Amino acid sequence: MNDIILLKQGEIVLKGLNKKSFEQRLSANAARRLKPFGNFKLYTLQSTVYVEPQDENADVAGAFEALKKLFGVISLTRAAACEKDRDAIAAKAIEYLAGDMRRAASFKVETHRSDKRFPMTSIQLSQYVGGLLAEAYPETRVDVHNPELVVHVEVRDLAAYVHGSPAPGAGGMPVGCNGSAVTLLSGGIDSPVSSWMIARRGVKIIPLHFYAFPYTGEAAKEKVISLARLLSPWCGALRLGIVPFTHIQESIRDNCPEEYFTIVMRRFMMRVADRFARDNGCGALVTGENLGQVASQTMPAMAVTESVAQLPVLRPLVGFDKAEIVAMARKIGTFDTSILPYEDCCTVFTPRHPALRPTLEKAAEAEQALDVEALTEEAVMGITHVAV
Ligand code: ATP
Ligand code: MG
Repeated sequence: MNDIILLKQGEIVLKGLNKKSFEQRLSANAARRLKPFGNFKLYTLQSTVYVEPQDENADVAGAFEALKKLFGVISLTRAAACEKDRDAIAAKAIEYLAGDMRRAASFKVETHRSDKRFPMTSIQLSQYVGGLLAEAYPETRVDVHNPELVVHVEVRDLAAYVHGSPAPGAGGMPVGCNGSAVTLLSGGIDSPVSSWMIARRGVKIIPLHFYAFPYTGEAAKEKVISLARLLSPWCGALRLGIVPFTHIQESIRDNCPEEYFTIVMRRFMMRVADRFARDNGCGALVTGENLGQVASQTMPAMAVTESVAQLPVLRPLVGFDKAEIVAMARKIGTFDTSILPYEDCCTVFTPRHPALRPTLEKAAEAEQALDVEALTEEAVMGITHVAV
């Protein structure tokens, strides 16, 4: 007899006509996530996905940890299995829920029977298990109206299950139900967080990294690959695109006014990402930009940068404070890697005095000596991929 996992659907529950396809997407994503942990059966009942191991070899603890990172799940519970016998159920509740029972000031038991042949009604079984729990934990009182803890008992076909307070899920919507987007992934703190936030809204992400070898070295690239690897337990398997950016950066250095180096470079990032995104059926570009963080992230700079893209540019971090972004980076597990000290292509050839109020006209003028189309095309054609 194996424990099972219950996944409570998040916002999908609020959807109307599309609900079925969201549910299917969530189950399919869960099934993919579960592959390394053994053989599981999944089915959905009343906004809950039931995850049942099919044999004794399944790693339920590993599966539970992995499913905490599944977008579209608001909370999840590991339910302990036992014999379909009232004393076995009570004994399991007393043992399995010891921590929950000691923490709570009050509790009640709720029973669901899908096996209607069980010789007690749901109410009788709740009262019986509740009585024995109250004896075992005399500090925790019974409160059927407003309990701190609800002990759930489920009598199902093959076994009975007991579970208590759920763990928080990753929230958001199932990856893939809101299309796909190219996310510009640097080695910094912000862009892994912005990528994560957009993926949590149900978007399949394709990360793209601009790489200016030899100005930025192999270690910088490895760092970005590590960051993508840290995102994939949340976002699903990723294909990281690496853009050769050296020719563009050297051309800018040799041909453009210094105060426009950064703006022109960022416009090239947008052009390349935009073309690559449209070639790959994506609906948007995503950056980790944050209003006012640096000279290239003022409103005029953002306007001049995004004007070369046809797709919308999403900036999920635009209104956050740095401390909030750092807290999120820690929570999702990217922070320690992000702060490793390697150069990013953005810091190559940075102007001493960047233009503070860049305009479209001046940016276009700054680019006049460049063959913008050819440089963009060359970079897009040179993109290589790393599967993580
Ligand atoms: P981050 O912490 O994400 O690096 P940042 O504050 O250092 O952000 P910038 O370096 O100005 O900001 O970059 C702003 C955004 O541009 C990044 O969040 C990222 O989305 C994108 N970006 C910057 N450099 C690169 C790069 N080498 N490859 C891909 N995207 C990049
Ligand atoms: Mg950066």
